[in-house]
Amino acid sequence: MDIRNVVIMGSGCAGHTAALYTARANLKPLVLEGHEPGGQLSLTTLVENFPGFPEGIQGPELIANMRRQAERFGAEYKLAHVTAADLSKRPFTITFGKETIQTHTLIIASGASARWLGLPNEQALIGHGVSSCATCDGFFFSGKEISVIGGGDSAMEEALFLTRFATKVALIHRRDDFRASKIMLDRARQHDKIQFITNTVVEDVYDHSRKEVTGLRLRNLKTGEISDFPTSAMFLGIGHIPNAKVFAGQLDADQDGYLKTTNYVCPYIFGRESNVVYNLTSEWICH
Ligand code: NDP
Repeated sequence: MDIRNVVIMGSGCAGHTAALYTARANLKPLVLEGHEPGGQLSLTTLVENFPGFPEGIQGPELIANMRRQAERFGAEYKLAHVTAADLSKRPFTITFGKETIQTHTLIIASGASARWLGLPNEQALIGHGVSSCATCDGFFFSGKEISVIGGGDSAMEEALFLTRFATKVALIHRRDDFRASKIMLDRARQHDKIQFITNTVVEDVYDHSRKEVTGLRLRNLKTGEISDFPTSAMFLGIGHIPNAKVFAGQLDADQDGYLKTTNYVCPYIFGRESNVVYNLTSEWICH
């Protein structure tokens, strides 16, 4: 079997960055794009906090530019979702579907996927009013009232974006403190279409039998009061789950499932020792 120098798992910002640098080192990296090619940037709209774009840039455009840049130096891309990895011996073996590949170096840049609430009727209503992607699905709820769940930047961003379509956006959060950055929180608070509902959790989403969202059952955590809240859609902005399950038992992870990094910074992956490398956003760390 052909043994690759470098396989990169994931095609978000970190994956493309790894591809660019390893391609420029003539390592002919192979990027396995995963089940969400382009990662979360490909699902977002205007990115205002990436250096180099004073007016901001659309997420899909930014990610397409990164890919083109890496391809220019010889990075290869393959639509493949990694289903297993054997890191017990070198070279490492990576499996995707019925195919396997071996590699001296594996760069894990697989990011995370949207988290769901785990409500009884939530999964059945995905695609029928329950969504984790405002930019993908917001348009379908033009002229309607929409709910967004969460208190971080994602929830603020989704709520603000959805005001383009909705007549009203209810932002429902389980506390009255917010993780969101002040600038995002202020923007949402100042928007006259956004109503804040705090100290409140969603207990279920209706109406499975009609195959559409008609309302939420809410519980106020301070008063214990349970109420029905009419809405046409529920968008989740409650964070993400790391895509690192295939490494369970092989690499150390924290309680949320994010891979733990070590303090040993890889002198260079190029050429010699085989390594697993991750945490590309800050520095390249070897295992
Ligand atoms: P965060 O982890 O920051 O926020 C998740 C939110 O969801 C929290 O308010 C949390 O509540 C709530 N939550 C989590 N689980 C549940 C649950 N089971 N039920 C109810 N509520 C729940 O995630 P984000 O995705 O918002 O942000 C991740 C990172 O990305 C952050 O660093 C953020 O700054 C960044 N980001 C930046 C953006 C920008 O600059 N434009 C846009 C989007 C994200 P609680 O606070 O009570 O735990």
